Amino acid sequence: MSHLAYNYNRKKISFKSGKGSYLKSYKGEKYLDFVQGIAVNSLGHAHPKLIKAINTQSKKLWHVSNAFIIPEGELLASKLAKKTFADYVMFQNSGAEATEASIKVARRYFYSIGQPQKNRILCVRNSFHGRTLAAIYASGSKKMTEGFGPKVEGFDHFDFGDHKSLKRSITKRTAAIMVETIMGEGGIKVIPDWCLRELRKICNQKKILLILDEVQCGIGRTGDFFAFEKSKVKPDIVPIAKGIGGGFPLGAVLMNKKVASGMTQGTHGSTFGGNPLAMAVGNAVIDIISKKTFLDNVKKNSLYFHQKLNALKEMFPKTIKEIRGRGFLIGIQLYKEQSKFIEELMKNKLLTIRAAENVIRVLPPLNVKKSELDQALNIIHKVCKNFN
Ligand SMILES: *Cc1c(COP(=O)(O)O)cnc(C)c1O
Repeated sequence: MSHLAYNYNRKKISFKSGKGSYLKSYKGEKYLDFVQGIAVNSLGHAHPKLIKAINTQSKKLWHVSNAFIIPEGELLASKLAKKTFADYVMFQNSGAEATEASIKVARRYFYSIGQPQKNRILCVRNSFHGRTLAAIYASGSKKMTEGFGPKVEGFDHFDFGDHKSLKRSITKRTAAIMVETIMGEGGIKVIPDWCLRELRKICNQKKILLILDEVQCGIGRTGDFFAFEKSKVKPDIVPIAKGIGGGFPLGAVLMNKKVASGMTQGTHGSTFGGNPLAMAVGNAVIDIISKKTFLDNVKKNSLYFHQKLNALKEMFPKTIKEIRGRGFLIGIQLYKEQSKFIEELMKNKLLTIRAAENVIRVLPPLNVKKSELDQALNIIHKVCKNFN
């Protein structure tokens, strides 16, 4: 029997090793891995440069404490600041920590300018910001919060796309609007660029902050470093995690100068956050993603993949309802419940993962080869043919 808690519904398979886009099971079977730890292994499994970075650092220093200056963290923060809207960075270890810390930053900013009553965060109902107590109540999902009362106060909700309700929900007490630029768990729902611009405008008018949760859609996943970049919008606060560590647990809050001013000494901390080992990996990931041609390739290859998936949708209009997402954050929405389809893909050695609204999430590593995309397309085609 397993002594692990029951809180996951695990597939009955284990993997021994991975290389690039592939995983090898303990039975010796090879799988094309288009889950990649849920958009975490941005550079696939066992990337030689990440192996080198962690090996080298592991021989020097793993952990010290934020009681001391950590040069590897200074370096990663400066790279992030140079690449993005951010002036300041706070390192965490996970996505939920990064979203929670983002909430703290927003509230603390208004506190620091003498408006502590502005402390409510407006979020999308049934979004996903992580599994800590505050994050589940921020997500506004009945399923995630059931049995975990008392309720963590301070969150208001509107339905995705319901602009009237969004505007109605902003009060004098609203500190920030927090949304995923592209809803991941919620079914790969993209906020259109014009909506992001409108959100920014509303935030400016009401003098509230814009938090864009890029934990899943950020770090090159869409072909841009951040999913919001195409809209030209500048958020105030952006939590990141998943892709930045390439498989090592790493999260961060990115902030502009204005909001960072509230986070004075002693206002936040994390024992592990930003330790040299994590920073070494983060630096290696960002160096590779920042190479000139890297995101161009993500754009080019993902465009090809989307076109082919849309062609499959045309071929099987009774099975596939919609191809969603951007770059390599892809959702195949079915008309029917998707678990059987995912199982069939797996029998054919392609790993994918579910999201809400009958969506199958397809998350290749960002450096996936075109031949691997073709292999996945063949498998999806085959499963569509036999699926009804
Ligand atoms: C995964 C995710 C989180 C939570 O990240 P954890 O590392 O699991 O805590 C938060 N927000 C979004 C958008 C995510 O996809």
